Amino acid sequence: MIPPSFSYRAPATVSEALALLNESDGEAKVLAGGHSLLPMMKFRFAEPALLIDIGRIPELKGIRQVGNRIHIGAMTTENELLESALLKEKCPLLPEVVRWIADPQVRNRGTIGGDIAHGDPANDHPATMRALEAEFVLKSADGERVVAADDFYLGTYYTLLEANELLTEIRVPVLPPGTGYAYKKLKRKTGDFAIAAACVVLSLTGDKCERIAITLTNVGPTPLRAETAEKLLTGKAIDDQLVEQAAQLAMEICDPAEDLRGDKEYKIHMAGEMTRRAIREAIDRARGRK
Ligand SMILES: Cc1cc2nc3c(=O)[nH]c(=O)nc-3n(C[C@H](O)[C@H](O)[C@H](O)COP(=O)(O)OP(=O)(O)OC[C@H]3O[C@@H](n4cnc5c(N)ncnc54)[C@H](O)[C@@H]3O)c2cc1C
Repeated sequence: MIPPSFSYRAPATVSEALALLNESDGEAKVLAGGHSLLPMMKFRFAEPALLIDIGRIPELKGIRQVGNRIHIGAMTTENELLESALLKEKCPLLPEVVRWIADPQVRNRGTIGGDIAHGDPANDHPATMRALEAEFVLKSADGERVVAADDFYLGTYYTLLEANELLTEIRVPVLPPGTGYAYKKLKRKTGDFAIAAACVVLSLTGDKCERIAITLTNVGPTPLRAETAEKLLTGKAIDDQLVEQAAQLAMEICDPAEDLRGDKEYKIHMAGEMTRRAIREAIDRARGRK
């Protein structure tokens, strides 16, 4: 299938890219790895007059620690995240999640910025970013704003990004020692999107849960945060009964679309199961058992 015709520019700097976005008055699309955008264009879901290829802008690449945060350039590929020694040591949840994304070919070109900016609730980074309480740097010709991942997702393929803005950087926390984390994803086969997935990040004081984030992939129009489940577990010693109650509360907020991956009932049930497994694994890790 051939996409409609379009103009193509490949700026060498962020300021050039921002100037092009500004001039295009909403008619341009940013091209990152192209793994989501090009299929959308082939199906005529997107018909940009201009593609602004940001793949030749060195300042959009790289992973570095700044204080207690890790700053990741939006054009960093999934494979680069997977291989990052810094992330493996300081925020191991992220490379763990990347292993679940697509396949090695897609991970070789697909970028963290594209995965986040696309606004697809089926993508794996969005829920992870909410669980990590990540921040996104959005730049336009008028300036810069830093937004919380928690506020970024407004609907399916609909985010806080304005047409003249570029996501330039993703900032995730250095996870303190003793942080428990897990990403549990059910998928039909290698390379597929989630039927349902759950992400958990928690810390314990003794047996008590001091802080917990529980988020869900592909069971609603946006990545979901199971806030009532988080509240239930915070401040308590988590036992099997509480895990079960938290899973039930997480299931209550799910509203998945039915498709070839399953009907609503099945997907909601699986979201509950992924939540149970992610909480248990995160606790084991926080206790140093895994
Ligand atoms: C076979 C297959 C399987 C896949 N499986 C998974 C999976 O299991 N899990 C998963 O998470 N993903 C999966 N994906 C999606 C993949 O991760 C894509 O790479 C990702 O969704 C988009 O990243 P990209 O770099 O290719 O962005 P592109 O396709 O280039 O862009 C996607 C959208 O984001 C916008 N955009 C990109 N970068 C920026 C930026 N810096 N600032 C502003 N806007 C920007 C573009 O304009 C476009 O609208 C799969 C894709 C394929 C083809």
